[in-house]
Amino acid sequence: MSAALKGVMKQESSLLLSTYERFPVLFERGAGVYLYDAQGRKYLDFLSGIGVNALGYSHPAIQKTIREQSAKLIHISNLFFHRYQAELAELLTGISGLDRAFFCNSGTEAWEGALKLARAYARHISHNGHKPRTGLLVMENSFHGRTFGSLATTGQKKYRAPFEPLVPGVTFVRFNDVADLKKKFSDSICAVGLETVQGEGGVRPVSREFLHTARALTKRSGALLLLDEIQCGLGRTGRYFGYQNHGIKPDILTLAKPLAAGLPLGAILTTSAVAAAFHPGMHGTTFGGGPLACAVACTFVRTLKKKGMLAHISEMGAYFYKALLRLQAQHPQVREVRGLGLMLAAELDSTDHAKAVVKQMLERGFIINRTNDTVLRFLPPYIIEKKHVDHMVSALDQVLSANPTSPAARNPARSKQ
Ligand SMILES: *Cc1c(COP(=O)(O)O)cnc(C)c1O
Repeated sequence: MSAALKGVMKQESSLLLSTYERFPVLFERGAGVYLYDAQGRKYLDFLSGIGVNALGYSHPAIQKTIREQSAKLIHISNLFFHRYQAELAELLTGISGLDRAFFCNSGTEAWEGALKLARAYARHISHNGHKPRTGLLVMENSFHGRTFGSLATTGQKKYRAPFEPLVPGVTFVRFNDVADLKKKFSDSICAVGLETVQGEGGVRPVSREFLHTARALTKRSGALLLLDEIQCGLGRTGRYFGYQNHGIKPDILTLAKPLAAGLPLGAILTTSAVAAAFHPGMHGTTFGGGPLACAVACTFVRTLKKKGMLAHISEMGAYFYKALLRLQAQHPQVREVRGLGLMLAAELDSTDHAKAVVKQMLERGFIINRTNDTVLRFLPPYIIEKKHVDHMVSALDQVLSANPTSPAARNPARSKQ
């Protein structure tokens, strides 16, 4: 461990709130699909800052936009006009089929705004004298962020419990359980909300039947379908948006992670009908949608729209998926391989195993992540090539070979005793 890293670790341990357990690496710069630590050691990055650095590091078009726009105007507040909110909204409505956009700073803020919009819309359409519907149906095992509304709709107890009581009116449905969804849906529900591919919950794509059922139920009753594509949207699944794999459209869509190529920016997209529920003063932000972040996001979306980009994501995703299936065939500790496009996962047989694999991969210079205890998650930048996949998979092969399934893990029922 370098002296620089040791120093930073010591300082942080006494100066910061203790919210993260970081890996002991001090990163200094990145280029393409590689990161370099303070000692100049190179790492192949298959996590992209949790799906944020979708164009990798030091992308020339992104750098150019940041350089030029930061020299002109970084922030102006939402009291005045600048060019780039409308320009970005035009790009995003063009690829999503939705009509209007609101810009904020992060994922959780986008989801908070989506929940507020859903409640406001229910009020907006409720007939005089009738109580508006307020119920929110959301998913077990989901993740929508750390602020109170997002937390209240996040279907994982470990995140919610320390902060209760949370926002009322929330009911959880078993993800992909159509019968449970039908049972819990009623006229008191104003919105059904889900991730098109659950990310933090272990990379679990929604089933076609479940998504179509949610769309049909909400449409019939006048409730809204909210899709959180903060992680799986904007090209990650090989389409612009995850729902485009299923031939439906949400009423409200939330975006963030890769949107401004590393700068903080979130977005709510919606239909004109739903947008009518907000009027000036009901929602807002100081930083959100600033000229620098929006100009960079325009460059990001234009790059995503370049010929061959989505096809490349799909092709690399399919290539990587097949390679992971081959690993599964060779290593019994790989329980399942799943995902869509370049949002992939390999579920292992135990938490300890997954922890050891992530740590040993890092020691070898490969960045992957563990989520939902036992799941290895891969969110590589869209610009990876087959050689990067080969490199990653062969390292994973070696690390899995060095960590064979323990007898206890092979028989989980017995290991509980
Ligand atoms: C990351 C994430 C969020 C929260 O985004 P932040 O920017 O961390 O607030 C919400 N929903 C999904 C699906 C995410 O992956």
